[in-house]
Amino acid sequence: MVETQVLIVGAGPVGLTLALDLGQRGVRCALIERNESSIRLPKMERCNARTMEIYRRLGIAETIRDAGLPRNAPMDVFLATSMSGPPLVRLPYPSVAEAKVEIAAHNDGRPLEPYQLISQYTLEPLLRSIVEAQPSVTVRFGCELASFTQDAAWVSARVSTGKGPDETIRAAYLVGCDGGASAVRKQLGIRLRGEGNIRKLRQALFHCPELYERTPMGKGRHYHIAEGPLFPFIILQDSTRHWTLHAAASSDHEMAEIFKRSLDMPIGFEMLSVNEWTQHLLCAERYGEGRVFIAGDAAHLVIPTGGLGMNTGVGDAIDLSWKLAATLAGWGGAQLLPSYDRERRPIGLRNVKASGAAMSGRLSWRAAYHPDIRENTPAGAAIRAEMASRFDVEQRKVTEILGIEAGYRYVGSPLVWPEAGDGPDPDNPHYVPTTWPGARLPHVWLNDGTALHDRLGPGYTLLRLGGSQADVAGLERACGAIGAPLDVLDILDEPVREIAGFDLLLVRPDLHVAWRGNRLAEEAGTIASVATGRFAADTIRSSR
Ligand SMILES: Cc1cc2nc3c(=O)[nH]c(=O)nc-3n(C[C@H](O)[C@H](O)[C@H](O)COP(=O)(O)OP(=O)(O)OC[C@H]3O[C@@H](n4cnc5c(N)ncnc54)[C@H](O)[C@@H]3O)c2cc1C
Repeated sequence: MVETQVLIVGAGPVGLTLALDLGQRGVRCALIERNESSIRLPKMERCNARTMEIYRRLGIAETIRDAGLPRNAPMDVFLATSMSGPPLVRLPYPSVAEAKVEIAAHNDGRPLEPYQLISQYTLEPLLRSIVEAQPSVTVRFGCELASFTQDAAWVSARVSTGKGPDETIRAAYLVGCDGGASAVRKQLGIRLRGEGNIRKLRQALFHCPELYERTPMGKGRHYHIAEGPLFPFIILQDSTRHWTLHAAASSDHEMAEIFKRSLDMPIGFEMLSVNEWTQHLLCAERYGEGRVFIAGDAAHLVIPTGGLGMNTGVGDAIDLSWKLAATLAGWGGAQLLPSYDRERRPIGLRNVKASGAAMSGRLSWRAAYHPDIRENTPAGAAIRAEMASRFDVEQRKVTEILGIEAGYRYVGSPLVWPEAGDGPDPDNPHYVPTTWPGARLPHVWLNDGTALHDRLGPGYTLLRLGGSQADVAGLERACGAIGAPLDVLDILDEPVREIAGFDLLLVRPDLHVAWRGNRLAEEAGTIASVATGRFAADTIRSSR
């Protein structure tokens, strides 16, 4: 029998990210994956700004960018009647290089990292190779979870390698990152709620090496073809030589026909694969039970419009990881692991809703379609103009949702200090930097050109800002008594104090704000107890 601290089931992007963060925290884990190798399907292609901040913190952002779409490639989104014509609409979005120049030139709290286009079939093997280098992580492909039991101290998992008898892995905790059909979720009897089986689509991967240079409408990442009722949607992959096509086609063969028609120019291509996938808007009614948790697609299924699938899952992994590490290290309080559900499930529900809104934006411009759209007549021109003007508004609900991506806040969390008032709208699609407790610490450039985020270690950080002399000894003593790691960081730079709005900020290991104020005084012990999960913030809320 193998014994470990955390057993992670599923080496998709979420399981791999969780394994990496736990590995960097020195937690012993076993990551098992039933497939013999990483996926070859395209699936996701865009890591959002928050995911890239997380990967920066894990020290791998530039490695991911090196493997992804070249840094100077524009990220424009087009609507056109074919790939050979002029666009009806071009929504311009900067390349990573341009976005980085913009980020460097502003100190207004906007996220530290821009997005990155990287195909899931590139990202997964890359993450796998990084995780395999972690001394405390064992990665086993070709190893499937069959079932598990749990008691007060352990989870015992029966796994099958297909070679010889089943094995048992005993772990203190198990995390199911095993995708939409999650066996872990099913064995816990957790149901998904929402709208399932909305629509079936086919996705095909094409090798079409000349298209990127030859399409006259220009370089970009998404090309929507205004041809109903299938509405082909062509997505650039990271090599710039591969493309995916999404369409509600009735056969695999039809996908090649649709691609050819959408190109509408003499150009060579090869269809490499086709698969079917189904759109869902679902969220699990619970994110775990006892010593077993679920994360990523196992916990929520969105329509990928808006790119909130893997990106939401990476957020789950980062929320759960430090809580598992803290509990295993002995300083995490009883509220810490249950707070995973309290913090991340509302974000799952919110992001499912945001994906639904993004999808309805897309459906609304598609509703302007009429078969005469290509006609060179006043009627044809009017149809094109109407669809273009709707696209210009509605498609932005898919591509301009930085607030959803980076502005989430853990409202009502037992770990977050209950500040009086409602706080800024946590569902605002536009990102507004805030240090309201529960929010992610906004990025700020320091006077020496370094980023505040990069100065924060793996434990808690108390930021003492703007030359404040506030006495922090009480918090240091309280964290010391609990055994929780705390750094006190004095930052004199004015922009940080300006964005923080307070002299003191207590930031958690995942960079979310636990508490803020101008003095700690006699509340220091309670603040430390709440932030480490020893004392629920709800108790303070209800006593007010
Ligand atoms: C067409 C399409 C486009 C998308 N675009 C985007 C995008 O741009 N951005 C975005 O954020 N998301 C996007 N997504 C969603 C994204 O692909 C998923 O959200 C993501 O793959 C979820 O990652 P995961 O690790 O949770 O699960 P998965 O990637 O499903 O990984 C689960 C893993 O668990 C393994 N497994 C399952 N059962 C067992 C078992 N019993 N034992 C061992 N292993 C097991 C599976 O083999 C699999 O490798 C897209 C999805 C699709 C279909």
